[in-house]
Amino acid sequence: MNIFKKTIATVTLCAMALSLSACRSTAENLLAKDSFKICCSFYPMYVMTMNIAGGIDGVEVVSMSDPNMGCIHDHVFSTEDLKKIEGADVFVENGLELEVFNDEILAAYPDVKIIDASANVKDAYDDGDEVNGHVWTSIDDYELQITNVCIELQKADPAHAEQYKTNAAVYLEKIDALRSDNADVIASLNGVGALVLDETLPSFCIYTGMDFITVETDHENEALSAGDIADIISEMNEKGITLIFVGAGEDTAMADAIAAETGATVYTLNTCMTGNEEENAYIDQMNENFEVLSDIIG
Ligand SMILES: [Zn+2]
Repeated sequence: MNIFKKTIATVTLCAMALSLSACRSTAENLLAKDSFKICCSFYPMYVMTMNIAGGIDGVEVVSMSDPNMGCIHDHVFSTEDLKKIEGADVFVENGLELEVFNDEILAAYPDVKIIDASANVKDAYDDGDEVNGHVWTSIDDYELQITNVCIELQKADPAHAEQYKTNAAVYLEKIDALRSDNADVIASLNGVGALVLDETLPSFCIYTGMDFITVETDHENEALSAGDIADIISEMNEKGITLIFVGAGEDTAMADAIAAETGATVYTLNTCMTGNEEENAYIDQMNENFEVLSDIIG
């Protein structure tokens, strides 16, 4: 090979290498620009985030947990969970210590930004021992969460900021309608006493201005002791409490037994913690609750 041919070959090789490198860098840029992955901790966060970020080209919304798993606060974090988070740019959590595995996420994926949906929620129920983080059953707190998640997504993914803002505004309008459609029931619950036997429902009672008593049941009211029940019955009689709230899907035997002793009525309410993957799932579930409670009106 003469010097001329050698030079041509070298130039050609360089051009190929440059072209490959250009291709790779273009592909990386496209990936960075066009693919933003949002992983949500569990069902309520998933439904919310679907509304804010679903249907946007280049944005993927996944849930770490199965929609029927139940509460994340009982969840044992696993390597299966870590796989779901792999490649995520952000992780949307309820916060208020329902998800206690952030350190494990960050140890595996230090670049994942964790979005705390409840960052400025101030009225979570506090029994003196701990703050109850199940705040999404308060429509006010849920709207705060939507706004928080939207703002943080806009910061983390400026390329889609306008779309997040538009979607969040549409969803907030729907939630406003949920509130106004049920204004009569909400007003009728104000000041009414209730025994609450599910951790997701104190926030609903705070939101509606109810005068409630509750016991720590870890979502399983059948675990109450005979002593607990005697105390509850005595307190209900003292305060004239005539409503008992249990979470849907739970055994109502205990609530029924207390109702038989006190003359109270048992209402089974949707906790909005499990369900279908429709974008209006939360709205449908809350409407269902207001329907169940509509005989309070008057
Ligand atoms: Zn829980």
